[in-house]
Amino acid sequence: MAGTTICHRAPLSLSLLRRRSYLRHPSLLPVYSQLSTDTASKGKEFEGRVGFLGMGIMGSPMALNLIKAGCDVTIWNRTKSKCDHLINLGAKYEPTPAQVASSCDVTFAMLADPASAAAVATGENGAVQGLGPGKGYVDVSTVDGATSKLISESVQKTGASFLEAPVSGSKKPAEDGQLIFLTAGDAALYERVASLLDIMGKSRFYLGDVSNGAAMKLVVNMIMGSMMASFSEGLLLAEKVGLDPNVLVEVVSQGAISAPMYSLKGPAMVKATYPTAFPLKHQQKDLRLALGLAESVSQPIPIAAAANELYKVAKSQGLSDQDFSAVIEALKAKLQN
Ligand code: NAP
Repeated sequence: MAGTTICHRAPLSLSLLRRRSYLRHPSLLPVYSQLSTDTASKGKEFEGRVGFLGMGIMGSPMALNLIKAGCDVTIWNRTKSKCDHLINLGAKYEPTPAQVASSCDVTFAMLADPASAAAVATGENGAVQGLGPGKGYVDVSTVDGATSKLISESVQKTGASFLEAPVSGSKKPAEDGQLIFLTAGDAALYERVASLLDIMGKSRFYLGDVSNGAAMKLVVNMIMGSMMASFSEGLLLAEKVGLDPNVLVEVVSQGAISAPMYSLKGPAMVKATYPTAFPLKHQQKDLRLALGLAESVSQPIPIAAAANELYKVAKSQGLSDQDFSAVIEALKAKLQN
């Protein structure tokens, strides 16, 4: 897992990045620049057409922010109707990933899982068929390192360059341009798309070789999945012993174990409502992939393994498309049993 780690917050201009020579001197410590929330002022440096594949919960607001910032954006989604609102806002549309990639300089992809990311990149009419020298492909989906390497190799065979860039942050950060990019792969492409990442995100990390970004993302989501499972247990235990779970949420929010996730999701969980920001099926996918990552280095991750089982139960209860906080329902079912 050795690799270059470069991190900074948006917006840091390409010229500034070059002047500071982070990429030429990877041993430099992370450097932060001023954080800006003015989307319209970001990203002016990328000149060229930007493709975006996958208009789901995350892809749609990410592409929208590129459009709002004045980028020339061409989109595609398997279910075409999900493209309509962005087409109305000025996005161009192509009927296949290959046509998007061939008509754009850089193409982003935000797909559900390893299978769909690989299919959209390398399958029939996949993006690879439209790539070539001078073009870039940036996969921002959460996948495992092996899938990322497979896509990277296929992209590079065309003469194009590849960057993996999974994101930390959910629906709201995607809408607000506040994502955290965990990138790895072609350093020149990282530099080339930096201003685009800064439109969609608040910070970006460059982590070296392809698969390091995927690994970082899986470790983060492994922690998150276990945190949510543990929080669910706490809410139910509090209630069972006669405490008000709303008070528990408040107490947690004021202490050292406070996390925005608990304050954000807790009140809705107490009401047994789970408006989807991060689909439960994707959280279980990430735990499954994290288990594979741990297996690859023979590391036991018993807490994540137990959490994974709970998310599997929730999926079997038909909760796949609910928010991942619906994992509490799997525990309720166990209590009733
Ligand atoms: P989503 O709403 O379920 O969207 C999934 C996207 O993948 C849709 O565009 C879907 O197309 C497409 N897709 C699925 N299977 C496909 C296939 N076989 N061929 C072509 N396209 C396919 O998911 P999301 O929440 O946007 O998440 C996307 C990725 O980001 C996932 O890897 C997830 O783990 C990761 N992520 C999500 C969050 C979050 O909070 N939501 C945060 C960070 C990272 P259709 O519209 O046609 O179904």
